Amino acid sequence: MENTGFLKNYSEERGLTRDELVGLLKLPDDQTEQLIEAAYALRTKYKGRKVSVQLLTNARSGNCSQDCAYCAQSCRSGADIEKYASVSDEKLYGDDKLVAEKHLARHCIGLSGIRFGDDEIRALAERIRRMKENGTHICCSIGFLTEDQARMLKEAGLDRINHNLNSSRRFYPNICSTHTYQQRIDNIRMLKGMGFEMCCGGIVGMGETEEDIADMLLDVREISPESVPINFLLPIEGTRLADRDVSALTYEYCIKVLCAARLMVPKADIRCAAGREKYFAGHEDKLFRVVDSIFAAGYLTAGGQGIDDTLCLIESLGFTAEEE
Ligand code: SF4
Repeated sequence: MENTGFLKNYSEERGLTRDELVGLLKLPDDQTEQLIEAAYALRTKYKGRKVSVQLLTNARSGNCSQDCAYCAQSCRSGADIEKYASVSDEKLYGDDKLVAEKHLARHCIGLSGIRFGDDEIRALAERIRRMKENGTHICCSIGFLTEDQARMLKEAGLDRINHNLNSSRRFYPNICSTHTYQQRIDNIRMLKGMGFEMCCGGIVGMGETEEDIADMLLDVREISPESVPINFLLPIEGTRLADRDVSALTYEYCIKVLCAARLMVPKADIRCAAGREKYFAGHEDKLFRVVDSIFAAGYLTAGGQGIDDTLCLIESLGFTAEEE
């Protein structure tokens, strides 16, 4: 039986209803092709065959006061990771040079933690100012900022801020008890209102339902970010989700989630973030028909494919790496 009838009602202006999204996520695996083609039409309309590749530097690692269940950087996690308060200049500027040399789209800078002192933000702003001299497009993943702190970063030239919803409002208390979903929404609204580009997505595979993913994507659509990173859980030893069963994260399920994101926020960069190498191995040709953005060389505490290998993969599949 054909279950993709909802595609007939689809328009970019209308998006998909909650029920349609849930139906999409529950589509029989043998009906995903039609979905991929619908996503591909939007992908090519807005992004051509370009893939933007980001390099991620972890500028502050570990010792975070928050208890996000999936995160190796939480002080409640026993994960064996390197911990430091501030990455060396050598590493940060070295990575920034790589972004320029390899013509990558963006330098993403992650900082563990949820609140920062003004002095820390001032120091970060100085570093951003220096990297902006190279013309790098910079995105920071940086917890909750005060308005004054956000202004300091804006004045330094910071282009984009990553702040994920991670899951639905309903499911959020299952993965974090130290801050709320609403705090995340409020922070995103403030930053968007200040003129930052926003990067806002989530994590799939933490025990949420299809309804939760639908709700998260409805909220993402309302935010209308420039970029939507979708992470697929990589359970990390020492975290609360270390033993999480991820057998439901088949290629077919994961690609349905990405198609849903493309249909809901068609103009955004749809990024397959953590989990790409694991869940899409051997299916990269289909993956790039839906997403136009990936990371190279690492995801904070989990390793990733190297830059050159990533660029080769893109070319070999007939896509082109976007040059910023
Ligand atoms: S996800 Fe961010 S806020 Fe949560 S524990 Fe990790 S570093 Fe802290």
